Amino acid sequence: MQDVKDITIIGAGPTGLFGAFYAGMRGASCRLIDNLDQVGGQLTALYPEKYIFDVAGFPKILSKDLVKGMAEQGLQFGAPVHLGQKVIGLKREGEDGKPLFVVVTDNDEYPSRTVLIAGGIGAFTPRKLPLQGADRWLGRGLFDRVLNPREFAGRRVMIVGGGDSAFDWAVNLQGIAKSILMIHRRDGFRAHQATVDQVRRLCAEQKMELRTFWEVRAIHGTDAVERVTIVNSKTKEEETVGIDAVLPQLGFISSLGAIAEWGLEVEKGDIKVTQTMATNIPGIFAAGDITTYPGKLKLIATGAAEACIAVNHAVHFINPAAKIEPGHSSNMALFGQKDD
Ligand SMILES: Cc1cc2nc3c(=O)[nH]c(=O)nc-3n(C[C@H](O)[C@H](O)[C@H](O)COP(=O)(O)OP(=O)(O)OC[C@H]3O[C@@H](n4cnc5c(N)ncnc54)[C@H](O)[C@@H]3O)c2cc1C
Repeated sequence: MQDVKDITIIGAGPTGLFGAFYAGMRGASCRLIDNLDQVGGQLTALYPEKYIFDVAGFPKILSKDLVKGMAEQGLQFGAPVHLGQKVIGLKREGEDGKPLFVVVTDNDEYPSRTVLIAGGIGAFTPRKLPLQGADRWLGRGLFDRVLNPREFAGRRVMIVGGGDSAFDWAVNLQGIAKSILMIHRRDGFRAHQATVDQVRRLCAEQKMELRTFWEVRAIHGTDAVERVTIVNSKTKEEETVGIDAVLPQLGFISSLGAIAEWGLEVEKGDIKVTQTMATNIPGIFAAGDITTYPGKLKLIATGAAEACIAVNHAVHFINPAAKIEPGHSSNMALFGQKDD
């Protein structure tokens, strides 16, 4: 059995990492648990090489660099991070006024005075290509995510999908891939119009090709992907094209998993919270993409603000004498400043 912490944070994405920072700043003991083998949540798992433009203080920053900075900031007070562990259960002990939670993972049990759920979109997996047996090509030319764009260097790439990620990679792999063919099963896109326009310009300049109403029918090759047969869903016309790398960008399937069974109020898969980021279970707070409330925006910036609110209220929940207002870090002795 692990030691009792003030706050156990489920999820080491940007929200969880910032929560760990605030916990440390408030003198609360804390730990992070994540089922991935690295911190950073969606930024690490889904788009490490993409630039982010809407985080305060950074006009433009690579996703993986933001994670590096957030981890440095969030873990500076020594919060342990338990990676590769999925939270599968919650036990509730103690009195109602002073609950003690035990967060159960597939590996250990973690007692805690409060819990902050920063589970983002849940334990997520990329949505698979709807093609029987496609998995056998994984690692042999079929990619379920882009961890390093250089893997596509000099390759004839087929991107499948019509959302932000598909369009972003069509743009970002320019100059890296030998050629890019993007196919989508409809002619409507769920991507930023600016990126769609950019892709259309690239097509007009013959730097890539975009085909709508086409789907993957079969992947061929000996040891690795060599050709892909695509089918036009309207005309039923089939065509086999030379391709070395298939990159489906079809979104991801996420699930709250066991967390959905804890008696938390959930709306359309998100946890309902109040203005203090409290859930309906006293002592359990939630922040980031996993939450819902009127006006909710699922962004890194809002997740960080919510983590700050949640942690300050968790600290006050544990010790009602502790102020909710954290004070200004710029004045704190903790950071070597003159405390006022
Ligand atoms: C392609 C793409 C581009 C984006 N671009 C931007 C952008 O430019 N600007 C912006 O503000 N936002 C952007 N976002 C959204 C942003 O990434 C999310 O808002 C942000 O990641 C939410 O952070 P989070 O910490 O709340 O959740 P997440 O990043 O999802 O992290 C949650 C973590 O919890 C873990 N977890 C979940 N369930 C469990 C469990 N049961 N046990 C253990 N661990 C668990 C997960 O493994 C994950 O690591 C983008 C998202 C995508 C997909």
